[in-house]
Amino acid sequence: MRITTDTGRCVGAGQCVLTAPQVFDQDDDGLVTLLLAEPGAGEESAVRLAAGLCPSRAVTVHED
Ligand code: SF4
Repeated sequence: MRITTDTGRCVGAGQCVLTAPQVFDQDDDGLVTLLLAEPGAGEESAVRLAAGLCPSRAVTVHED
C-alpha cells in the first residue's frame, strides 16, 4: 500500500490524524502531512478508514 495526499484539497479537518496518527500529521496551517507514505500491514485498515472519512477526499490509497 502507498498513500498520496493532496494538500490543495485538504481542509484541515483532522479526521485522518485522529484515525491513523502513526501515518498522518498536520502542519502549522492544519494541512495534512504524511509520516508514512508506505504504511505497514498493521496500519492498512486504519489508513483505508481515514481515506474514507476525509471530507475532501484528499487521501488516496494506491494498492501497488
Ligand atoms: S481528513 Fe482530509 S481534510 Fe482532514 S486533515 Fe486529513 S487530509 Fe486534510
